[in-house]
Amino acid sequence: MEIRTLGVVGAGQMGSGIAQVAAASGLSVVMNDIKDEYLDRGFSSIEKSLGRMAEKGRISGADQKAILGRIEGSITLKDMAKTDFVVEAATEREDLKKKIFRDLDEFCKEGVILSSNTSSISITRIAAVTKRPGKVIGMHFMNPVPMMKLVEVIKGLATSEETFEVTRDLALRLGKTPVPAGDFPGFIANRILMPMINEAIYALFESVGTAEDIDEVMKLGMNHPMGPLRLADLIGLDTCLAIMDVLHAGLGDDKYRPCPLLKKYVDAGWLGRKTGRGFYVY
Ligand code: NAD
Repeated sequence: MEIRTLGVVGAGQMGSGIAQVAAASGLSVVMNDIKDEYLDRGFSSIEKSLGRMAEKGRISGADQKAILGRIEGSITLKDMAKTDFVVEAATEREDLKKKIFRDLDEFCKEGVILSSNTSSISITRIAAVTKRPGKVIGMHFMNPVPMMKLVEVIKGLATSEETFEVTRDLALRLGKTPVPAGDFPGFIANRILMPMINEAIYALFESVGTAEDIDEVMKLGMNHPMGPLRLADLIGLDTCLAIMDVLHAGLGDDKYRPCPLLKKYVDAGWLGRKTGRGFYVY
């Protein structure tokens, strides 16, 4: 099936980034969320990102308008019937993703590939709630999507080779570099990244260092472009906690126990940049 229209479910930081990159590559996009206000927030972050690119002279004012013009907003999942490939980027919760995939399976045309941008949840289990498990796959973009090259491509147990190839080709068409990863909790990226972030939070919890000092050590000492606590704020502390819970439950080893301080921040609604406060104030 030729991919002309991409469906994106969830217009948060990842969904809006994926919609932007797809529209910039010439695809039509249907971007879905549950409320108009969330869609508006998604559109305004796309506008800001395109504005920054225009200021740097990387795109023209006309490009900016054309890219935005290719993205249609939607607050009903039935609109996914118009699309040729779907990327789900809703909140990192297995029950929510399973419900979305059951509905997508019902609403989408036969043969349409349903992909998930999940950071950690089993693609095999998400695929199993649909009647097209061969057409379900993980397509894990990195944040911020317009800047980051990597897309992990994750086959579930039933995912077909053809689905893998179409997804890999789509990632290339979006200007990304696809890398295959196995369907285990956290895949490759978050199996390695998230325990490091969690350990940094433990270091803060145990007063090994201040947030600034922990980040400075990792930047200057390990050449990381951004410290782990600032990166956690960028990812979203709710998402970090959800990923640690998946690693802990799925791998069964206490080394993946989420730090109590991370839980406390999430309980307080201090989710990082997206709420204006996390380990830092924005
Ligand atoms: P976010 O909180 O910014 O956005 C999630 C969006 O999903 C919200 O706008 C919410 O309203 C919407 N949503 C919730 N239920 C929905 C439903 N039933 N239908 C449609 N939309 C719904 O979160 P995010 O950071 O964009 O993360 C989204 C997904 O991407 C998660 O699975 C996350 O693990 C993954 N991811 C996140 C990052 C990151 O750095 N934040 C990186 C890679 C992958």
